[in-house]
Amino acid sequence: MIGVVLRGWRGAVRGAIGLLLGWALAAAALAQDVVLEPRRVGAHSWAVFGEAGMATAANRGFNSNAGFVVTPAGVVVFDTLGTPALGDALIAAIRRVTPQPIRRVIVSHYHADHYYGAQAFKATGAEVWAHEAGRGVVGSDEANARLEQRRQDLFPWVDEKTQPIDADRWLAFGERGTIDFELGGLRFRLLDVSGAHSPQDLMMFVADDGVLFAGDLYFTGRIPFVVGADTKRWLQAMDRIAEVNPRVAVPGHGEASDRVMPDLTLTRDYLRYLRETMGKAAEAMDDFETAYDRVDWSRWEKLPAFLPGNRLNARSVYLEMERESLRR
Ligand SMILES: [Zn+2]
Repeated sequence: MIGVVLRGWRGAVRGAIGLLLGWALAAAALAQDVVLEPRRVGAHSWAVFGEAGMATAANRGFNSNAGFVVTPAGVVVFDTLGTPALGDALIAAIRRVTPQPIRRVIVSHYHADHYYGAQAFKATGAEVWAHEAGRGVVGSDEANARLEQRRQDLFPWVDEKTQPIDADRWLAFGERGTIDFELGGLRFRLLDVSGAHSPQDLMMFVADDGVLFAGDLYFTGRIPFVVGADTKRWLQAMDRIAEVNPRVAVPGHGEASDRVMPDLTLTRDYLRYLRETMGKAAEAMDDFETAYDRVDWSRWEKLPAFLPGNRLNARSVYLEMERESLRR
């Protein structure tokens, strides 16, 4: 009897401790905000995948992807996500996979959702590398306006303490358009695809894993977002991807794909079709609305993102083709 009472009492205490522990853990989770679950995409390669759609305070600004590669001589990180807290969470996620030091952080391009986490990595002693065309972005009027807007929209995840940082090393690609390096016996290739989606795009190919971290130039199974892009440069970037022939590609947004060539073909055909149809319209000086309605979109209209994106994409390419024809 006494035993039963004691057990009951012990159980109650255990329950209370459990409750307290649970509460403490929940508070800690709140303080640390996001927990990221890295997924393995290659023998040494991992990635975290943000939610689809825009960065909002509700999704804590987690709408983009990042990756990391574990070598016997340290970790190479590709992109740092859109807030310092997400940067911290990425570091914590890496720590759960490996005790190796974080050596290098590669910035795919200077869009807020891909590099605001970089400041968290400074404290780890990692060296930040980016395309030399990114020099001068941090602190520019445009970047400052973006930061102010994010401090409003993504508060408290982006606030006064959020300070986008410059790279430690600016990469000059030169004619060849590639930079190779090795760490811990693994071979890496950085590909210059600048000017296609942003002025400073680059990709990272992990040769030994056959994994490509592609940033915002690669879309899987959907209509790409083309507004403001240079489609001519983008098509050249597609060729660069085809050259390395990756087994798996991790895009800047959305799921990883092991159907890289079909995805490339889709994006390529779509960009070519936009350029061809809108190029003809611009050449003939047809107005955009008339030209748009005349084009046969049936090959694309069942694909995800067609409805919200296609008309905007087409308009952007129409303007681009107008500029190109003026240059000729
Ligand atoms: Zn971007």
